[in-house]
Amino acid sequence: MSTLTIYPTTVETLLADSEGFIFQVIGSHGDIYIVGYDYVDGWFCPCPDHIYRRRECKHIRACKNELDLNHICVSDDLFCEVTA
Ligand SMILES: [Zn+2]
Repeated sequence: MSTLTIYPTTVETLLADSEGFIFQVIGSHGDIYIVGYDYVDGWFCPCPDHIYRRRECKHIRACKNELDLNHICVSDDLFCEVTA
């Protein structure tokens, strides 16, 4: 029994190199988001939560969790500038 299922998503690392990461995040409804992290520009997710509210969405949190599991540290509060 677990009450800590806070990441109802599947995260797959598509790319990891010296510039950052690209993840494929599959949401709880089967929706797919490509989430990126760039060491210069920060996190980016194409979902409305991130683009319009400019905050850390659940997809980014899921990716951070994935990095945590692999003991990779990245900046917590760095976001891409989004010009809508
Ligand atoms: Zn998102």
